Amino acid sequence: MVDLSRRALFRGKVSRDQAGKPLRQNLPWIKDEQLFLADCHRCDACIKHCETQIITRGDGGFPTIDFSRGECTFCYQCAAVCDQPLFRPETEQPWQQHIEIGTQCLTQSGVECRSCEDSCEPDAIQFRPRLGQVSAPQIDTEQCNGCGACIRTCPSKAITINYGVQL
Ligand code: SF4
Ligand code: SF4
Ligand code: SF4
Repeated sequence: MVDLSRRALFRGKVSRDQAGKPLRQNLPWIKDEQLFLADCHRCDACIKHCETQIITRGDGGFPTIDFSRGECTFCYQCAAVCDQPLFRPETEQPWQQHIEIGTQCLTQSGVECRSCEDSCEPDAIQFRPRLGQVSAPQIDTEQCNGCGACIRTCPSKAITINYGVQL
């Protein structure tokens, strides 16, 4: 279990794995990770109001997102109900993250699969023909808005979020 106590945060011991990626999925429009962990009083209001119920209580009781439950629709409810100054305006980009597809992708083993493409509303996943091989997904990171809709639909759990920024 990761220690997400405030003390540990300010010692810089939390929030990243060995590859430097954050250990938790932040809510959209969060201004700053340290401010969030200092000022979020863990009231659960964002959890109760998330329209897709993807916000859960994470380590230390701080809200986090579980994309295995669904996608973010960018409804802004989490930010709207929060009584702390933790979120940026809705007019700004919610986050810079996009997805990565790992080697567990079924197409890497020669199995036809297009589940992720079907779930992606912005058409950020495309399948190009490959000579003598089944088509494999390619991500357009400019189009991917990090909504997470494709994550749950992948039968081999090959899709992960690349957070894009150092939190
Ligand atoms: S923007 Fe809406 S769907 Fe996305 S995490 Fe917040 S409340 Fe949930
Ligand atoms: S509504 Fe705001 S203060 Fe309450 S748990 Fe969510 S982010 Fe934290
Ligand atoms: S995270 Fe959302 S926008 Fe990005 S590829 Fe998956 S479904 Fe498409």
